[in-house]
Amino acid sequence: MTAMIDSLTPADLPALTAAVAGPVLQPGDDGYAEEVAGYNLAHRPAAAVVVGATSTADVAAAVRFARATGRKVAVQATGHGLTDELFGTVLVTTRRMDGVAVDPLNRRARVGAGVRWAAVIQAAAPHGLAPLNGSSSTVGVVGYTTGGGLGPMARRYGFAADHVRRFTIVTADGAVRECSENSGGDEADLFWAVRGGKGNFGIVTEMEFDLVPVARFYGGSVLFGADDAAAVLHTWRQWAPTVPEDTTTSVALLRLPPDPALPEPVRGRFVVAVRFTHLGDAAEGEALFAPIRAAGAPLMDMVAEMPYPAIDAVHMDPTEPMPVWDRGCAISALPAEAVDALLAVAGPQAEVPLAMVELRLLGGAIAREPEVPNAVAGRHAAFSVFTVGVLAGPPVEVVAASGAAVVESVREWTCGGLVNLLGQAGPRRVGALWGDADRARLLDIARRLDPAGTFATNVVIG
Ligand SMILES: Cc1cc2nc3c(=O)[nH]c(=O)nc-3n(C[C@H](O)[C@H](O)[C@H](O)COP(=O)(O)OP(=O)(O)OC[C@H]3O[C@@H](n4cnc5c(N)ncnc54)[C@H](O)[C@@H]3O)c2cc1C
Repeated sequence: MTAMIDSLTPADLPALTAAVAGPVLQPGDDGYAEEVAGYNLAHRPAAAVVVGATSTADVAAAVRFARATGRKVAVQATGHGLTDELFGTVLVTTRRMDGVAVDPLNRRARVGAGVRWAAVIQAAAPHGLAPLNGSSSTVGVVGYTTGGGLGPMARRYGFAADHVRRFTIVTADGAVRECSENSGGDEADLFWAVRGGKGNFGIVTEMEFDLVPVARFYGGSVLFGADDAAAVLHTWRQWAPTVPEDTTTSVALLRLPPDPALPEPVRGRFVVAVRFTHLGDAAEGEALFAPIRAAGAPLMDMVAEMPYPAIDAVHMDPTEPMPVWDRGCAISALPAEAVDALLAVAGPQAEVPLAMVELRLLGGAIAREPEVPNAVAGRHAAFSVFTVGVLAGPPVEVVAASGAAVVESVREWTCGGLVNLLGQAGPRRVGALWGDADRARLLDIARRLDPAGTFATNVVIG
């Protein structure tokens, strides 16, 4: 992906250090390792220099420096999306750009590039508002949203990218551009492309988006044991497409570690988790969810009325950094044969090093074009399939082969994928997510605004 360049020459750095307010660190410097570390420990970033940006001006200075020294630029908020070592790059870390402002009257939030969802949820909740965050509030707002962003209210409200109003972006020429639905020219193209096309076009330094009037939900997750896996999955497959748009649901086959922090009934076991978020009232949610509760003998039932800030309880994603490998696709239907195929490669009888195999129901608002069109891919699929392996035992090749077998098992029904839930993929697989016209438009915008291919993103469109 990026060329390996060991270090910068001593003459290169003083100009950069003088131009930015945040720290500028090279390998071996105190604080370098902490500055580049991300959530996915499978990759230890080895950037030639890391710039701890504090402002849009710092980001612009870092981009101009990279251009002047012939290096690629990478950006990292949390490292949840780390897919390689970023050798030789100028890495811009954004965690110091952590401003969050909520405008309750207009139901809007404005955030800096380094903000995680948790901060927006906390700032919005006192006003009875919520953002369209994803399964884990530890994920970064901008990285998530530029990849579309599919969360636990998605069937009611669509993708997070559908609700973006404005952003500030630094493009490869070092220019600072304001983009919104009122923009023209290159900025109009950027407003379309960045909302779905990820980090291929520049570094977003600030983003403004709509919040939704949600203060509570009825939901959470219910866990079943291995003996119920087939019955629960088949029940879910038939039940899920019948739920209203106020309901978002997914099901996951989980191989839980023998972690003493986990409750005894599920510790070290294979479990099936059905996740549920219902925005209507609790009685309605309870009635809707009844067929799932009756599909087996729940080991744990954690579905209840909750305040929105408890939204992480729906997916219960791990929060501590870990080395992970992941892969996903989208499918157009989930017939009984597809469920059987998934159970054959990843069900309780399969010996595979996969921590999670997940199916998310799509449809509803996800399938509708937003008011202002954007580049989100995978909008018309019926389900997303996503698998994660933790690289703590078998070598990566074994984990990757197991994960590839999951995606392969549903090949007959595959119809592209979602940018954020694609896992590690080369430019061709990424490019194939869009139809010919949208892919050509994305490539044209990228080539026009970044002819030298300055940005090293985790999702490269080919
Ligand atoms: C535990 C977990 C749960 C997840 N749940 C969901 C989910 O429910 N729904 C969903 O859609 N996705 C989900 N994801 C995927 C997640 O949205 C992507 O990995 C996303 O890229 C993470 O963004 P980040 O900023 O946190 O990560 P980082 O690793 O910091 O950034 C990843 C990439 O995002 C882009 N990016 C980040 N900051 C900027 C910026 N300022 N300007 C331009 N581009 C930028 C770049 O391409 C960068 O390479 C999940 C991932 C994890 C690990």
